[in-house]
Amino acid sequence: MSHTMRAMVLERPGTRLRLTHCAVPEPGVGQVLIAVEACGVCRTDLHLVDGELPDPVLPMIPGHEIVGRVVALGAGVQGWQAGQRVGVPWLGWTCGHCRFCRAGRENLCERARFTGYQIPGGYAQYTVADARYGFALPEETAPEHLAPLLCAGLIGYRALRMAGDARRLGVYGFGAAAHLITQVARRQGREVFALTRPGDAQSQAFARSLGAAWAGGSDETPPEPLDAALIFAPAGALVPAALRHVERGGCVVCAGIHMSDIPSFPYAWLWGERSLRSVANLTRRDGDEFFELVRQAPLQTEVHLFALEQANEALDQLRRGAFQGAAVLRMDAPA
Ligand SMILES: [Zn+2]
Ligand SMILES: [Zn+2]
Repeated sequence: MSHTMRAMVLERPGTRLRLTHCAVPEPGVGQVLIAVEACGVCRTDLHLVDGELPDPVLPMIPGHEIVGRVVALGAGVQGWQAGQRVGVPWLGWTCGHCRFCRAGRENLCERARFTGYQIPGGYAQYTVADARYGFALPEETAPEHLAPLLCAGLIGYRALRMAGDARRLGVYGFGAAAHLITQVARRQGREVFALTRPGDAQSQAFARSLGAAWAGGSDETPPEPLDAALIFAPAGALVPAALRHVERGGCVVCAGIHMSDIPSFPYAWLWGERSLRSVANLTRRDGDEFFELVRQAPLQTEVHLFALEQANEALDQLRRGAFQGAAVLRMDAPA
């Protein structure tokens, strides 16, 4: 094994990632060293690069949808073997002691650390991760098809669970998360109504191809009132728009980590026991449930491959909405 690796590094928010040759990290106590096969490019990475997340640790290697193989075990690691496939998600470490951790809500841990934000992430040939937060993943699936599951899939799944037993589900923003969660929702017997950027016929066709009963612009009215709406796009104006289409007792779930300001709206749109909530991070239980569901019946993932060195281009294309589905960096792809 070589002792140096290639990584794409954020030195300062608002600047491009820089290709860097640095030392392969060594696994500390409780950590595994991972040879990264693929790493998804998430909208949160875009928020990090654009300086929309508070207090990033810098310089930072972004990336929290990591699929790789365990190369070496640090002291005290249990349950993992060299060669085994591992997935590393956004939740990288929690304290285990605060009132949230003790209550089974580690996603809200007061001292939580996140991959690719406070812990170096997967835009690199190698990374180290706390073994307790990794997920065992199917060995036979191509890594690029697993990577989007680690955040888009997982946090989408948590958002879907917040929708309770809603049968008619509105989905705002038809990107990586929505394309996976639509498939899960259909399996659960829900009807999906996809609301995209106005005039985005391509995304609407994509949504229909994955089983959406209807797809239109976010300025349109779905054919039926909604029992719940999930918002995956970072546009605060979608919150009142979604509330207007949600039936009494229904719920609007904001799934992103960052959103533009929400415009004011009449209280009547919330009244009728409608609720509005956000989803933050994930718990390991979410992951266990979600990957069990994926093992039973794999999800179809639409991926757009980039080489590690093309991470800036992948982020640019994500910002522009230039592709359907999810962007993934594949470490062995030629630049
Ligand atoms: Zn905690
Ligand atoms: Zn993410």
